[in-house]
Amino acid sequence: MHIGVTGAAGFIGSHVCERLLADGHRVLGLDAFTRFYARELKESNLAALRRAPGFELAELNLLDTAALVPALGGLDAVCHLAGRPGVRRGSPAIYEAGNVQTTESMLAAAAEAGVRRMLLASSSSVYGRVEGRVTEDAPRRPLSEYGLSKLRAEEVAARLAAELGIELVVLRYFTVYGPRQRPDMAFARFVNAALEGGSMPLLGDGAQVRDFTYVGDAAHATALALERGRDGGVYNVAGGAPATLAHAFDLLGGELGRSPAFDTRPADGRDPRSTGADLGRARRELEWRPRTSLADGLALQAAHAAAAAV
Ligand code: NAD
Repeated sequence: MHIGVTGAAGFIGSHVCERLLADGHRVLGLDAFTRFYARELKESNLAALRRAPGFELAELNLLDTAALVPALGGLDAVCHLAGRPGVRRGSPAIYEAGNVQTTESMLAAAAEAGVRRMLLASSSSVYGRVEGRVTEDAPRRPLSEYGLSKLRAEEVAARLAAELGIELVVLRYFTVYGPRQRPDMAFARFVNAALEGGSMPLLGDGAQVRDFTYVGDAAHATALALERGRDGGVYNVAGGAPATLAHAFDLLGGELGRSPAFDTRPADGRDPRSTGADLGRARRELEWRPRTSLADGLALQAAHAAAAAV
């Protein structure tokens, strides 16, 4: 198949492109190199892809519909990962434009270009405060503007997909980590501070629990969902073994041979205390399960970061 991947220069998007190429697909990456973090890092995310046969990149903003419609022509499906991530750094208007309007724009352009299937990247942030492991049918009560915008993106996408006759599959990723992790995320900050000998801010006491997901597993789930996901299906994608942030930092410090000093600050109310996913639906319908333990995945992230820092 010929598959479009929006956000191809980003953390998860670049891994998804690599996975789709390895599965034998042709891939058109679409990315605007937004200013949320440095272009230099996104260029290095793309380094291997730019040399890969079967990969092409279109640099464009998804809000530029005049450029988007012709770019999507001839694609069999689109994996829509581009968005404005991060819970802390944006205003409501930025989240609305980055997550909701881009999704509206993608669906309208896909319909005009004749693309009949779309996968949308959503987030565990749509659930908000939860106990234990949530199924996809759990109540959605986002705690942050980011989570709210991802929920609105899901709702807008479902409505437009039904109106426009596009098949839609939604994935809710839970805290993804691994090589090339976004620089604002906790493990990337920990690794950078440890390698450079600095300190890092720590929000809360480190006892917050996350269902950390290795990026290679997330990319595999994404490729399977494109192929097998039910039209209208929503799937949790998580690591399957929730752990505390403090435990993950211990593992990462062990890998790096050093831990940074923490500049401890109060917990942020926009972060849930705990996340955990029920993965039964993804297992049954996508025949996917996570394969990478937290220890193995963190070892891969640490090794990649150390090699890149030399
Ligand atoms: P990222 O910032 O690394 O990648 C997003 C990419 O999208 C960037 O390269 C950016 O330039 C591009 N982009 C943003 N707006 C665009 C626009 N208007 N036009 C074209 N390109 C645009 O983020 P990521 O961590 O790889 O996240 C990818 C997706 O997964 C996002 O939708 C995010 O909300 C979602 N998600 C991520 C996580 C996680 O733990 N990383 C968890 C849950 C959900």
